[in-house]
Amino acid sequence: MDYRFECQRCLYCCSKEPGYVFLSKSEIEDLSNLLGLGETEFIDIYCRKVDYGFYYLVSLKEKDNFDCIFLTDNGCRVYEKRPLQCRTYPFWKGIADSKEAWEKEMESCPGIGKGRLYSNKEVHEIMKSGNSEPYIIFKKS
Ligand code: SF4
Ligand code: SF4
Repeated sequence: MDYRFECQRCLYCCSKEPGYVFLSKSEIEDLSNLLGLGETEFIDIYCRKVDYGFYYLVSLKEKDNFDCIFLTDNGCRVYEKRPLQCRTYPFWKGIADSKEAWEKEMESCPGIGKGRLYSNKEVHEIMKSGNSEPYIIFKKS
């Protein structure tokens, strides 16, 4: 299968629809450092806890219009430290592992089908690298 992709900077994937940007421990550290905040303060201001039963995962907040909390008129405010989930889109499991899903994703991402050709090996490596450990906050029993 041919994977062609080049981001068109439309910012659709940072906005418009509700979704989650889950963070790992190291991403929380990186973003806190970038913004000069403590980790607890960073989570309080920029994150929401998503209930997963016995624990919470930590995701970036969205604005009322579903824009990511870090989306500005000039693009991503934390671009150099943007989470892995953002870096690896659209090469996600569930999108890049089937032709049907990849082609369906074109409806949301105008960069799919344009620009550089990625080999199957590259795509699999990116998909594998996208599996960072999410930060888990256990609920008190
Ligand atoms: S939706 Fe696709 S083209 Fe638009 S900003 Fe996101 S990755 Fe780039
Ligand atoms: S962190 Fe940046 S790249 Fe990721 S969704 Fe938010 S604005 Fe977009």
